[in-house]
Amino acid sequence: MSTDPAPHGALNLALLRDRNDTAVLRAVRAAADSGTSRVELAARTGLTAQAISKITARLLDEGLLTEAGRERVAGRSGKPRTLLRLVPGSRCALGVEIGRRDLRLLRVDLTGTVTALAEAPTDPGGEPGPTLDLIAAAVRDLTADSAPGHVLGLGVACPGPLDTRDGVLHQVTGMPSWHGLHLREALASRTGLPVLVEKNTTAGVLGGLGPDNRAFVYLGDGLGAGLVLGGHVQRGARTNAGEFGHQCIDPAGPPCACGARGCLEAVCLDALRAGRTADAATALAIGVANLVRLLDVEEVVLGGAALLADPAPYEAAIRAELGDRLPDPHWQHVTLSRATGLAVPRGAAGLALARLFG
Ligand SMILES: [Zn+2]
Repeated sequence: MSTDPAPHGALNLALLRDRNDTAVLRAVRAAADSGTSRVELAARTGLTAQAISKITARLLDEGLLTEAGRERVAGRSGKPRTLLRLVPGSRCALGVEIGRRDLRLLRVDLTGTVTALAEAPTDPGGEPGPTLDLIAAAVRDLTADSAPGHVLGLGVACPGPLDTRDGVLHQVTGMPSWHGLHLREALASRTGLPVLVEKNTTAGVLGGLGPDNRAFVYLGDGLGAGLVLGGHVQRGARTNAGEFGHQCIDPAGPPCACGARGCLEAVCLDALRAGRTADAATALAIGVANLVRLLDVEEVVLGGAALLADPAPYEAAIRAELGDRLPDPHWQHVTLSRATGLAVPRGAAGLALARLFG
């Protein structure tokens, strides 16, 4: 599966000199602990033995790979093949989720394993400066023991609307003083790192593996969806696809923070504030069934702090709604799964890992 995590504007940040290096690194990562030989790498990537030899020499020299023992190939004579493995700690990447109430920053190694985590409250109603300073300080803490140049970058997941291509925020609901902020520039200048900005929901759908057609539905202090269709992440014309929470489900419904009325997000959050979880679940289930009918996804991953705090009512309501609304629910089977609590910042860190792995 290819989910193409790098947004258009990030492609020029690619760290390696050509796509062949990326293909080799991806193949070594896929082999994981068992390691892989140069012969296998040539077979997997379609590159010549000579090209593999040059590329692996370079990656060994850069410390990204290590030679890790030898294997004998059954039924073949000759000298055993040297195995190559990724060195997980040779580089790291950072991902931060900026929420309306708190932020979570984590560090991952080259396998995507979380190696450090920091959390702090935020003040969405205030000016962004103090929150950005807080992120920069946490970045310094989490990378204090990293060699210069070994931090691949900082992926930033933020509520939308925003433009991934230039990293500018646009009328983010509930964060009025952040409107027009050049978030990418602001954090790049504070940290000195390459910065990649993504909507929280899109980061969430990239924060885990799954089938080629899936949606990540996020109910936290907002509501949205990230989409992978046909194996590719979907961002839309202005990188703003997935404003799932602002579909109108009741024209006479409660006012929404976006300025409209009766948005699914407003209905869900109103119900949650009043302690009516069942009503929030019923509303969300209608939205999820609409989404499944529109896009024919095969998996819906449920995430976000509000939902994960009490997922059972949402799952039951969604299953019931899908059972009622899909013409043939057995044929159009939809897997419901729960995201981990760190799916969004992990997906953000994955944007920085993509500088190496594509
Ligand atoms: Zn709205």
